[in-house]
Amino acid sequence: MDYKNITVAGSGVLGSQIAYQTAFKGFDVSVYDINDEAIEKAKERITKLKSRYQEDLEATKDDVDAAFNRISFYSDLAKATADADLIIEAVPEVVNIKTDFYKELASVAPEKTIFATNSSTMLPSQFADATGRPSKFLALHFANEIWLNNTAEIMKHEGTDMNVFEEVVEFAKAIGMVALPLHKEQPGYILNSLLVPLLEAAQMLLVKEVADIETIDKTWMIATGAPQGPFAILDVVGVTTAYNITKEKAEKTGDPGFKKLADLLKTEYIDKGKLGTATGEGFYKYPNPKFMEPDFLEND
Ligand code: NAD
Repeated sequence: MDYKNITVAGSGVLGSQIAYQTAFKGFDVSVYDINDEAIEKAKERITKLKSRYQEDLEATKDDVDAAFNRISFYSDLAKATADADLIIEAVPEVVNIKTDFYKELASVAPEKTIFATNSSTMLPSQFADATGRPSKFLALHFANEIWLNNTAEIMKHEGTDMNVFEEVVEFAKAIGMVALPLHKEQPGYILNSLLVPLLEAAQMLLVKEVADIETIDKTWMIATGAPQGPFAILDVVGVTTAYNITKEKAEKTGDPGFKKLADLLKTEYIDKGKLGTATGEGFYKYPNPKFMEPDFLEND
């Protein structure tokens, strides 16, 4: 892997983090966004990251400034990709926006450039044709707060060249990620393929009145040694996200269980402002939620 110049397209929540982490690890980074206003926002977002790196990683002022100075900003895609070895796409999670973006990118990017999508819910095969270079295209998926949650799921589609796949795995390691290779396409990658069914099962136990929240979490924590149970995890994910997923499933399947769960999440949590850790209360109250009390794993 001899990548030097990395372009990040879309400089929102994730794009700005990917750009800054990549620059922090010594690569030259070009950030692309649609207009000057979006670029100004990107500069603000990335400037804010400097203090997080100082607080969370004990990075020095010189280090965080040097990282910022390795980033250039563009609202012209051809200029942003002129010498790119790899472009990481983090534009909105909307099929048409991504498809149009790849068509434009295909017409301006140099032949050598590898394309990677950070999409959370879409598969690379959906866009492989639009890229015009399916063998040099794959998914490279990061988690929010990339400098702390340093996983990178690398997922090929059928047409991805195995050498490209291996190079991107090496690149992920080079920017401080723990690389998690997926050799086949899988909606939700590894993490959500495990997590979504767990969280759904926990919520169905609640809505069927099989057991209460604390008993469900306690069971999982004792049995697996996990530091949190599914409802504590849901508080971090956010009740709104859980509600949106459940509502969509209820509409798609017509299953009365999902409908009942969606109603419960809406009336008992969302309408009462209990959205999870973000609002200080969800299934638990923060700080000092009950599941962190020393006797939580014992009998009542
Ligand atoms: P966001 O809305 O915060 O940022 C999107 C950025 O793309 C904005 O800066 C916007 O100006 C820009 N943009 C809009 N249209 C564009 C275009 N045509 N070309 C280039 N840029 C354009 O979104 P986000 O949360 O950063 O998500 C971006 C991608 O990252 C999505 O695919 C999402 O699934 C994925 N992702 C998000 C998270 C997360 O926690 N937010 C985590 C992992 C992956």
